[in-house]
Amino acid sequence: MIHNMSNLVRGWEVVVGLEVHAQISTRSKLFGRSPAEFGAEPNTHVCFYDAAMPGMLPVLNGEAIDKTIRTGLGIKGTINKFSRFDRKNYFYPDLPAGYQISQLFFPIVSGGTIVINQQGCGLKTIGIERIHIEQDAGKSIHDITPDCSYIDLNRAGVPLMEIVSKPDMRSSYEAMQYVKKLRMILRYVDSCDCNMEKGSMRIDANVSIRKPGEPFGNRVEIKNINSIKFLGQALDYEVERQIHVIEDGATVIQETRLFDSDRCETRSMRTKEDAADYRYHQDPDLKPVILTDERIEAIRNTMPELPDDRRLRFIEEYGLSEVDSTILTEERFTADCFESAVSSSKFGKQKAAKMIANWIIGELFALLNREGRTLETMGFPIEYIAELVDLILDKTISGKIAKTVFAEVTVSGKSPAAIVKELGLVQIQDEATIESAIDDVISRNNSQVEQYRAGKVQLFGFFVGQVMKSLHGKGNPEMVNEILRRKL
Ligand code: ADP
Ligand code: MG
Repeated sequence: MIHNMSNLVRGWEVVVGLEVHAQISTRSKLFGRSPAEFGAEPNTHVCFYDAAMPGMLPVLNGEAIDKTIRTGLGIKGTINKFSRFDRKNYFYPDLPAGYQISQLFFPIVSGGTIVINQQGCGLKTIGIERIHIEQDAGKSIHDITPDCSYIDLNRAGVPLMEIVSKPDMRSSYEAMQYVKKLRMILRYVDSCDCNMEKGSMRIDANVSIRKPGEPFGNRVEIKNINSIKFLGQALDYEVERQIHVIEDGATVIQETRLFDSDRCETRSMRTKEDAADYRYHQDPDLKPVILTDERIEAIRNTMPELPDDRRLRFIEEYGLSEVDSTILTEERFTADCFESAVSSSKFGKQKAAKMIANWIIGELFALLNREGRTLETMGFPIEYIAELVDLILDKTISGKIAKTVFAEVTVSGKSPAAIVKELGLVQIQDEATIESAIDDVISRNNSQVEQYRAGKVQLFGFFVGQVMKSLHGKGNPEMVNEILRRKL
């Protein structure tokens, strides 16, 4: 193993492993029929099964299985043809059955990798231990009145994938990169919307420190982190705390802590339980999940191109830079938009792709940011970007006029061609017209002409400006330059 010395914190190496809970985007819950949707009135999405009424039996949601298989393929893991559900017993008021159904002994996916960018440069492969399926619990609400707590069972039984990494990350930066990449993959394969504000993705971060080359230290688990920024802050705080503990001669206790984002610190919650404390055993109400090759292959055939592959293809096929290609492939929809724009350009990918990429990343993203719009809600088709680029490439308009046209597109939603026509913005390419404008400028500026001819060549820009002004900015810049140079 190679140690990246720059990652050390005052001589200590940081070790991070993440357990990410991702809500599988299914319509109904894992074993009950109530909707899995977020945001309903409390306790309106609860069936008898979710409330653990006596005699209710679980019925496995096949869509949850299929989407977890997609995720497993997305991280290049092994899909296990045999997996099984176990009961994890513990008491809590928001867990009416007294146990959570999870997969401890036989998870549905084993192994896998995620490639992340390292700080500075280079790529690093982070190992994935497993993905298992489990139910979410309900929600306890303690802050409505001081003297009692409330329970909302809407989330009880919602399907989750728990994606467990190996302890392969060596900094808070790498941990954040890992979550970003994982989120990208889950969105590509459409197994989770990864909306962290709504709780469809939550992170438990395990962190320990050691001197390079020594065995792993005791780890602390920071529970339920709900943003990538908080993940970074929680890890940074925790690393500092552990360094102080050890340098003061004490040992780090293996425990579960919570991150308080207001005070930016972690607080002890409980000492860590062992698996034995949960009395895990196979759920007698559920048969093992047996997957056939046909089912796995059928899903493999519907898999989209994955973000890493797509990023590399964009570089190869469209000649984009690494940076542009990364930006455009971050979301599947953005990449789809780029590709449909390119394919609608009459100049094709060789000539138009780079310019289309520049327009999307530059002008279009700036507009969307400024106005809080998205590619989905921007109000005009992405093909208009290609149309605009085509108008520049076929010299109907200059790049400068194109910005005016674009601004008009974003306001009116009209097509670039229609706007160019309506506002009379077509570039002047008629040689005679340009020549006469130039003659006029030369005859009106005798003294500048003399100075120019005497060697003050920096006056050239002045002449270009004057000519463009008299052509209302619509002169073809190359022709103006060329004819002007000839005449002067
Ligand atoms: P548990 O089931 O008790 O949560 P696991 O062995 O499944 O424990 O590990 C959970 C997570 O903790 C994994 O993501 C793993 O990579 C990480 N982990 C294990 N040991 C360490 C360590 N010493 N430091 C940091 N992370 C660790
Ligand atoms: Mg765990």
